[in-house]
Amino acid sequence: MHFTDLGIDTRLETQLAHQGITQPTDIQAHAVPTALAGHDIFAQSKTGSGKTLAFLLPAVQRVMKQKALSKRDPRVLIVAPTRELATQVFTQLRLLIAGTNIKAVKILGGENFNDQIKALRNDPHFVVATPGRLADHLNQRSLQLSGLELLIFDEADRILDLGFTDQLKLINELADHRLRQTLLFSATLDHAQVDALSRNLLKKPKQIMLSAANEQHSDIKQTLYLADHLDHKEALLEHFLNQDNVGQCIIFTATRADTSRLSESLNSKDFKSVALAGDLTQSKRLDIMDAFSRENFKILITTDVASRGLDLLSVTHVINFDLPKHAEEYVHRIGRTGRAGFKGNALSLVGPKDWASYLAIKSFLNDELSFATVEGLKAKFKGIKEKQVAPIKPTKKAVTTNKPQPKRKAKPKKPAAPIKAPLNIDGDTPMRRKKKPEQE
Ligand code: ADP
Ligand code: MG
Repeated sequence: MHFTDLGIDTRLETQLAHQGITQPTDIQAHAVPTALAGHDIFAQSKTGSGKTLAFLLPAVQRVMKQKALSKRDPRVLIVAPTRELATQVFTQLRLLIAGTNIKAVKILGGENFNDQIKALRNDPHFVVATPGRLADHLNQRSLQLSGLELLIFDEADRILDLGFTDQLKLINELADHRLRQTLLFSATLDHAQVDALSRNLLKKPKQIMLSAANEQHSDIKQTLYLADHLDHKEALLEHFLNQDNVGQCIIFTATRADTSRLSESLNSKDFKSVALAGDLTQSKRLDIMDAFSRENFKILITTDVASRGLDLLSVTHVINFDLPKHAEEYVHRIGRTGRAGFKGNALSLVGPKDWASYLAIKSFLNDELSFATVEGLKAKFKGIKEKQVAPIKPTKKAVTTNKPQPKRKAKPKKPAAPIKAPLNIDGDTPMRRKKKPEQE
């Protein structure tokens, strides 16, 4: 199948071929024609399956081919929960519209407000934004949405989890006209909260549920290891990092204090690692992600705030030094590897403090998790009897199936595009169901 078979212009197809992208993935094959036909979409497909192009392609196609509803207002608004995700989407958009007269701007928190006002006065066709700063511009009327044609939410469930409900309501109200089309994408859309959101935002949406949120990812090998205590976890970690097959690696810890501590410990043992923590300046964070995407260092240590969206194809291993509390974040964390048809490994260390999280994840994933041991580093810890563990509320499950995705052929591994804007990675942001937005 070709992109042109989905109704995509040959110019865009050529642009994709330059990036080594020749065949649509499943989610693209389903979502592109549905979006071009004008339907609202509620789409779930696994991490690394190409959701970004699934919404960008029909959006660019529309702006290229259809008459605008308004000359001044943006035609397409894309909202992403974090700055670095919005930046990644923007980078991909810029590649698609290179050489056209389509204008796009990025509106992120932490950047100069007046510069953004100026950029918005230039009547861009596309706005890619994080929700908090976007709402500021709407409140100040430096941005109008009455002519908006396409409203897109990437990682929609995360936007809600971070507490941006009011901002979403505002966007919805200001862009509330008959012709508006709305698209929601994520790998984990099946919470009750998202149902409520989609009832408000979407009109007769087409559901494209290509994989269940809890489905095994066939390109990610998941293994768990029992661990007795911190030193034992570090010994296991050292063992893993010494394996030959480790390329770039992202290590997730529970808190930002842990990221710095672990990074210092690894560096003292000559593993070159960098901690991406919330107490760093924006520009420092930017430098770190830029350097990691250029493969200047191998090991990035971070928290759940970086569990979503990062698309770095050289990451061969994700290591959960501590397990996340909520099963969806486990799915997103391990999804930083095994992307675009490449294989990846997810190793998780499970100590006494991780046991409640382990049970929640195990239940979410239908028990399909297996433990292994490392010779000489076997744990004495054998788990905790279930009735002694305070349960974490189980998450609702999705029910559909998935097909294999086409593997990118034309190009060998390319370094991921450098991230140019300040990052939105903010160490200790509590993960879910917050009352007040704190991340952006
Ligand atoms: P998701 O949002 O589903 O997690 P992304 O949109 O970030 O996935 O895409 C993951 C990777 O797959 C990116 O590096 C992207 O360039 C690549 N990709 C997207 N579409 C295709 C395709 N049709 N063929 C090959 N690679 C693709
Ligand atoms: Mg994505």
